[in-house]
Amino acid sequence: MENNLHIFIDRLKDEKEEKIIDSLEIEKLDIKDEKELIFTKPIDLEAKAYRANEELVINLNLKFTIKMPCKICNELVEKEIIVKNLYIIEKIENIKTFYDLKKEIKNVCFLQSPSFVECLDNCPKRQNIKNYFKKTKAENYPFSDLKE
Ligand SMILES: [Zn+2]
Repeated sequence: MENNLHIFIDRLKDEKEEKIIDSLEIEKLDIKDEKELIFTKPIDLEAKAYRANEELVINLNLKFTIKMPCKICNELVEKEIIVKNLYIIEKIENIKTFYDLKKEIKNVCFLQSPSFVECLDNCPKRQNIKNYFKKTKAENYPFSDLKE
């Protein structure tokens, strides 16, 4: 079967553009779940590739869903991530026959995932540790004991 994530340069001659609309299984992208980052659904991809002078331009749109432990209560939280209008530009001279979009999608998925999540973007257990937050702040503030 043809790999539609391989963008062949010679197909983009004469101002032709290539559109890729697909739903990619996580396994196909060789994405391995990290301990604290799990991709739960196929990744929706919409991409457009074209040549501009001596460069390959790819417009990339992605939608995917991750699961991560909430930073407060550690429960797994599901979150949808949407990446819109990301541009990838590569010099044609650096591309042998085709550009492999697979690697790039994989990178983008990891880069665009948040470094932490909170359930419902506001963990109900946050209340329990509010005092702790305040206390820490006061202690760390070097001039808190000084009077004006
Ligand atoms: Zn939580």
